[in-house]
Amino acid sequence: MTAACPVTVIDHPLVQHKLTLLRDRDTPTAQFRLLAREISLLLAYEVTRDLPLADVAIDTPLEPMLSPQLAGKKLCFVSILRAGNGILDGMLDLVPSARVGHIGLYRDPVTLLAVQYYLKLPDDVSERLCIVVDPMLATGHSASAAAGRLRQAGVTNIRFVCLIAAPEGLRAFAADHPDVRVFTAAIDRGLDEHGYIRPGLGDAGDRLFGTK
Ligand code: URA
Repeated sequence: MTAACPVTVIDHPLVQHKLTLLRDRDTPTAQFRLLAREISLLLAYEVTRDLPLADVAIDTPLEPMLSPQLAGKKLCFVSILRAGNGILDGMLDLVPSARVGHIGLYRDPVTLLAVQYYLKLPDDVSERLCIVVDPMLATGHSASAAAGRLRQAGVTNIRFVCLIAAPEGLRAFAADHPDVRVFTAAIDRGLDEHGYIRPGLGDAGDRLFGTK
């Protein structure tokens, strides 16, 4: 067991296959972006698996019936800029009516701590299930800062979705937010001295946006 927090590894064969292609250094930017979108759609399917349903009355062309639809609090995806946007689109493909918040955090290159430079959340964010998205859960600092900021805004129901997590990051995040469930496609070996996940996939932002 690599972490003490509630972690779900999405081991669906399609997710694992696409993650392998994503990791490959020879995968070009356009394909990387498409794969990230496809994987995140599949992750969104899992992270929303237990959303509550309530029956509503409808009429089919043949007869009236009670049929389930999503009930209660609605969703808000919160993207940690900038790499979070690379997996936000796939989530929105699956839940197009979700609200979206953005939190801008950069990693101080020396301390590796998260510094906030931007925040925009829906007015009613405290009434929603917030699903924070960021491709890499590395040190856990950004994830922790984002969840902390959401708590300050009154959010009580938070989940975190990433493509790859490091055991160190999972432990740090669980220490700060033991009630937040993490959904990831993989838990890798660990962090290197620069805070990169090994074997990982490199810098997710650079690979998504072709900036290096
Ligand atoms: N952020 C990334 O983009 N990649 C890592 O490996 C760690 C943090």
